[in-house]
Amino acid sequence: MPPERPPIARTGIGYDSHRFAAGRALILGGVTIPSDVGLEGHSDADAVAHAVTDAVLGAACEGDIGTMFPDSDAVNRNRDSLEMLSLAVERINSKGFFVVHADITVIAERPRIGPHRAAIQEALSGALSLSPSEISVKAKTNEGMGWIGRGEGLACIAVATVAESTG
Ligand code: MG
Repeated sequence: MPPERPPIARTGIGYDSHRFAAGRALILGGVTIPSDVGLEGHSDADAVAHAVTDAVLGAACEGDIGTMFPDSDAVNRNRDSLEMLSLAVERINSKGFFVVHADITVIAERPRIGPHRAAIQEALSGALSLSPSEISVKAKTNEGMGWIGRGEGLACIAVATVAESTG
């Protein structure tokens, strides 16, 4: 008899960027961060939640955030991105996968993310059904280079690992 295939862990990557805009809230990973500028976007422009959502969907080969929540659908206007992340997690759960880890890097000249790290881990933990200690949140500047360096906006890269449900 051939050996049974072991449960498989799979990894997805997500990337997002948003332009800074006056008069908008700055929401990252579900946390509203005090700032003189916010982020422009169709939804609440939470670049962290969007990158993590794409990473989760990518790990399960379930498409991407734009396909699941199209801009053309009025219901997605100013939508809470943590809710979108929760729905993406539900989708991959229904395909027999669950999230086991996420690693996130925010790239921005400002604001400083460090003081908000624990709050972001806590907020994402609910949507991902993980404990905060299973979510890594890192940040760096772009050393003053390019559009991020000029403070035009920020970017986020996220990796999510999912495992097959054996139950
Ligand atoms: Mg986005």
